[in-house]
Amino acid sequence: MPSISMNNFRDVDVLVAGGGPSGVAAAIAAARRGANTLIVERYGRLGGAGVTSMVNPLMGRSCSPLVGEVLERFEKVQGDWEVLDLVYADMIQESGAGIMLHSWVVDPLMDGRRVTGIRVLNKQGLLSLGAKVVIDATADGDVAFKAGAEYEKGREGDGLLQPMTIMYRLGGVDKSRALLCGNEEEAFEIQVPEGSWHEVVQRGGEAGELPRNIGIIRTYESPHPGERIVNATQVNYVDGTNIEDLTRAELEGRRQALAVTKFLQQHAPGYEDCYIAQMPQSIGVRETRRFLGEEYLTKDDLVSGRKWKSAVVRDADFVIDIHNPEATSQAQAEGFAARVQPYDIPYGCLVPREIDGLLLSGRCISGSHEAHASYRVQQIVMAIGAAAGTAAAIAAQNNSQPREIDVSTVQEKLGLMATIRQ
Ligand SMILES: Cc1cc2nc3c(=O)[nH]c(=O)nc-3n(C[C@H](O)[C@H](O)[C@H](O)COP(=O)(O)OP(=O)(O)OC[C@H]3O[C@@H](n4cnc5c(N)ncnc54)[C@H](O)[C@@H]3O)c2cc1C
Repeated sequence: MPSISMNNFRDVDVLVAGGGPSGVAAAIAAARRGANTLIVERYGRLGGAGVTSMVNPLMGRSCSPLVGEVLERFEKVQGDWEVLDLVYADMIQESGAGIMLHSWVVDPLMDGRRVTGIRVLNKQGLLSLGAKVVIDATADGDVAFKAGAEYEKGREGDGLLQPMTIMYRLGGVDKSRALLCGNEEEAFEIQVPEGSWHEVVQRGGEAGELPRNIGIIRTYESPHPGERIVNATQVNYVDGTNIEDLTRAELEGRRQALAVTKFLQQHAPGYEDCYIAQMPQSIGVRETRRFLGEEYLTKDDLVSGRKWKSAVVRDADFVIDIHNPEATSQAQAEGFAARVQPYDIPYGCLVPREIDGLLLSGRCISGSHEAHASYRVQQIVMAIGAAAGTAAAIAAQNNSQPREIDVSTVQEKLGLMATIRQ
């Protein structure tokens, strides 16, 4: 296992910026293909939004074997989110990759239009790390942005982004009586003494007990006795790459959580004695920059289940889940998320136009506002990470640029050849 000595890390084959689900998968995949790999994360824990913003469960599907391995390892710790970061750390270290925590990626090192490494800021000061290929798994695409890659933000027309949410954990719940509500459909079906859960929450908004943009209170299962996870708060008209917005959203989201908890105590059987057991380290940001790649995924591609010759993720599957940028809940006309057919993600969505030495991974890849609302979930971004890590290792080993490599080699290493229609 590599030591955490800075000197060992000055030059690597593959450098992964960001330790969320896509970055973790990218690091494991690259190291397993023999690349000298380092993953750099700004916080003290791996796992990204799933860990630091408490957004769970691990949703979505794909046919990536690496995702299957993560799920198996996670089951062995009883699906306990408090130790998911260590599950990831174990898998990364077993693969031979190095981990650097508490280190912010500040900007890329550039040679013309080619990324040649990154600069990180940590307790030791500013450090330059060289790499043959950098994978941007920062979710906001911080490396790609500073490298000058082209990007889009928000929905077509007005550029508005999906809202941000503080997800948090309640203790003191009487689980034998406490409602579980996963989505809007269930909110209509669940009955409490005052009516359907949906009606009760709507009335709470009208009466001023809840902020007006809270239209649904989702409560998810926790593996611990007396605990539930709450997904209800919603801060609209904010951009996670604007620091004033981010500050406002953190404070507003946490204040909303207080109102939601009080509402549950007063209106939801089983929650009378609940209390806030844990707030997240950071507010959850659903959507920011989407970089333009050699290929681009659209809503039509997902709804029709389009197959691509250059697929590096097969059978990705999750609804187009757009939380309303302007008001409460999901944005689709009928009130619920739009269905998709299992779809491919082509390699070109990971290759930024015109910038070399760089691959995109996770929720910042090339696709529309609607397509992003499906592939952003954790199991799918992990599959994207597995593809990015594999491609980066191949490029580094061949001393070539990510855009130059033969995609069929990536598909073969990912075990996808049998499923690709030529
Ligand atoms: C409120 C909310 C609820 C959600 N619910 C679910 C759910 O139930 N199930 C599900 O599967 N998905 C859910 N998602 C979506 C999912 O969590 C994210 O889309 C997914 O985590 C994206 O993965 P990623 O690896 O691209 O980015 P992230 O998970 O955001 O990881 C990025 C990592 O990079 C690090 N980083 C960022 N910038 C820098 C920098 N400059 N230097 C160093 N490190 C940096 C971050 O700290 C982080 O660890 C939800 C999202 C939100 C916001």
